[in-house]
Amino acid sequence: MQAAEHAAVGAEPGAAEPAPRPATLLQHSPYQAPAGFSAVQPATHRASTVLFANVAAMRARDWRHKTGYTYGLHGTPTTFMLEARLAEIEGAVHGLLCPSGLSAIALVNLALLQQGDAVMLPANVYNPSRDMAQTLLSGWGIALQVYSPMDLAATQAAITPQTKLLWLEAPGSVTMEMPDLRGLVALARQHGLVTAIDNTWSAGLALKPFALGIDISMQALTKYQSGGADVLMGAVLTRDEALQDKLLDAHMRLGLGVGGDDASLVLRGLHSLHLRYHAHDQAARRVATWLQRRPEVQTLLHPAFPGSPGHAHWVRDCSAAAGLFSFTFQPQITAAKVDTFVDALRLFKIGYSWGGPVSLVVPYDVAAMRGASWPYASPLVRLSIGLEDPDDLIADLDQALRVTLG
Ligand SMILES: *Cc1c(COP(=O)(O)O)cnc(C)c1O
Repeated sequence: MQAAEHAAVGAEPGAAEPAPRPATLLQHSPYQAPAGFSAVQPATHRASTVLFANVAAMRARDWRHKTGYTYGLHGTPTTFMLEARLAEIEGAVHGLLCPSGLSAIALVNLALLQQGDAVMLPANVYNPSRDMAQTLLSGWGIALQVYSPMDLAATQAAITPQTKLLWLEAPGSVTMEMPDLRGLVALARQHGLVTAIDNTWSAGLALKPFALGIDISMQALTKYQSGGADVLMGAVLTRDEALQDKLLDAHMRLGLGVGGDDASLVLRGLHSLHLRYHAHDQAARRVATWLQRRPEVQTLLHPAFPGSPGHAHWVRDCSAAAGLFSFTFQPQITAAKVDTFVDALRLFKIGYSWGGPVSLVVPYDVAAMRGASWPYASPLVRLSIGLEDPDDLIADLDQALRVTLG
């Protein structure tokens, strides 16, 4: 028995090539993608370990050049493909994926800022970005300077010799003011600042940051590119080689890679991105038009509507709008009544994020976020218009207004 078992694994010198043991067989598959096979979707490559043909190839590894695969964290064909496609959409040259939109913001900050520097954020910035600057960055000796996104003169006055990075957000994703991006970029150039835009709202479609001279575009792919409200991912894009070198170094050192499954979900989402984005846009404008005429509504905050802050900048710089907008109620409608209105909605679900198939609603206490600089009523209600029929959404808003305020 023992001898036979031994023979089966080929211990005898000169015997035929041994058959691998079961545990080994289970790990090594002779599978090769069939020659002549072609499909619409690329294969999904999942890898932590990347194998090298020999020691020389391993020693020659070069994670900085994207043709050289070195380790899953530094990229696979699936993640490189998504980075390349995002760069193509937005007119960038380089792209880097991060595990979330917020980690993409962190990547830009950590790659470009050092102790003693200052970073400028608009007062209407995505709130977790401000929180990162107020806590982590300030703890590392990087100062936060908050600027008024609609006031170029005040922004210029706030720049100091320490200022290195100017973040832009167009529009602010809660209060929806569309800043003068061209004016802000000119200011940044004059003072030698790097500009980075949180371009999540445009999905890389409605606004082209590189055509405006912005250095870095950051996106939360979690929103429109994913489209399913079920993936978390971010991206940082640039045309500038020197900036890309810094971003790539920090991306590697911070370990911000993403898995192949998530990347392929976003790749699949890209096929319908253009259609979805414009459907969200059209439906949102239809719902906003209806809301604007309601007597309970005081201010509509949607950059494509005349009278909304920065509308002229939207007309000048944007080709479409996202399915996102906010509105305030007449002052006699109390915060408690606004909450009741939100609770009475049926199709609109209460939840953060946006860009997914289901419409979402969140009430925000903007006065607390913005202080005296907020000129409109508070609370504000933000709607993310999903892919439902807009007439059903209007009927839902109508019944909630009647139930709670009528
Ligand atoms: C959602 C969002 C982010 C962050 O994206 P996550 O993937 O949720 O971390 C950043 N900026 C804006 C404007 C966003 O709406």
